Amino acid sequence: MKKQIRRPHQLSSVSKGNASKVFAHIFRNGKITQREISTTTGLSFTTVTSVVSRLEKIGVVKRTLESSTNGGRPAALYGCNPGYRHVIGVEARKDKLFVVVSDLEGTVLSRTTLPFDKKIGKDGFLTVLVDAVDEQIKKFKGKQSTFLGVGVGVAGLVNPNDGSVTMLSHLANWGTIQLKDVMEKRFRLKISVHNLAAAAALGELRYGSGKGKGNFLLLNVTDGVGGGIVLNSRLYTGISGTAGEFGHISVDDHGPVCTCGNIGCLETLTSVPALVQNARRALSQGITSAIKDIAGGDPDAVTFQVLLDAARLEDKLAYNLFTDVGRYLGEGIVSLVNLLNPEMIIIGGDLVQAGDLILNPVNDVLKRQALEVPRRSVEVVFSQLGDSASALGSAVPLIEDFVGSPLDD
Ligand SMILES: [Zn+2]
Repeated sequence: MKKQIRRPHQLSSVSKGNASKVFAHIFRNGKITQREISTTTGLSFTTVTSVVSRLEKIGVVKRTLESSTNGGRPAALYGCNPGYRHVIGVEARKDKLFVVVSDLEGTVLSRTTLPFDKKIGKDGFLTVLVDAVDEQIKKFKGKQSTFLGVGVGVAGLVNPNDGSVTMLSHLANWGTIQLKDVMEKRFRLKISVHNLAAAAALGELRYGSGKGKGNFLLLNVTDGVGGGIVLNSRLYTGISGTAGEFGHISVDDHGPVCTCGNIGCLETLTSVPALVQNARRALSQGITSAIKDIAGGDPDAVTFQVLLDAARLEDKLAYNLFTDVGRYLGEGIVSLVNLLNPEMIIIGGDLVQAGDLILNPVNDVLKRQALEVPRRSVEVVFSQLGDSASALGSAVPLIEDFVGSPLDD
């Protein structure tokens, strides 16, 4: 009888399972000895040495020698080789794209910002997106095979079943876009689509302020107010994939009408456009402020940056406007803290640039209004990843998939 030769891709499921187990352990724990891997995974030392040797041979694991503190033989430590595979991550806002290429450990190797005019419409937007990704792939010429896929964090409601996106109506009236489908056909790579705030939460969980935290909420405050919920170290997306729309918590019965039809939603009072709008209104009512001078006397020329500059000059109107935003944000956060008892609230998005102008009133309101027990366990911090949070986070599921099956890709 002809003896069957087992090719590398025909490894037994047990062998693949062991490889996944060992690699996931190495990936999550950093540099580690084979003895430690054996003890913590329960696999025999012989199995571990055989699997590690194979992972090292294909290049996904790297060995380093570290000198022992007691003068003995240097220990061989095994860690992930972060450059073995790469991912592309995109954050698609209403008027710009942030595109990053990162390695398996989230180190950004390339980054571009690409503004666009939303008048380009749905098809124009898809062209800009596809071209931006294509440009990054071309930069890594000859290394296309190292890309695991493309993650996209987008300002819209994402259908988790088919990766289609309904853009938020106040950003673009484009209806539903078959985003995943279009990208898959174009690139023949895995495509992972998320709401941009949910993607930012994944980014913070893996690489940023939420690292090592099992239960936290992220509020992304830029053009609107989006959110991401991490419970028991996993992103909670809800039954239809839309969980985390914190921007539509009602905080003022007499507030402005929101795009969702309700009145006084958090988003209508704390988003960056709302802040700028309030400043313009105050100036048109004749309030004296350095804001007007910085904007060259034209209320319509007021931007978020102008408000930040005025606040740095200790302008009273700018200070009051930021304080109001912080207070309303604080009220929304009180509801979230009382409801979910998280260990951390991460504020991300452009509003982070206002620093303590926002954080101080948020903490004041939290201290005054939240229930004491959940308040004592929660900390409010800013995103550590800045503009890269959503782009990096949107690609995290692609890396997770790879870690679960390093020999399949
Ligand atoms: Zn609303």
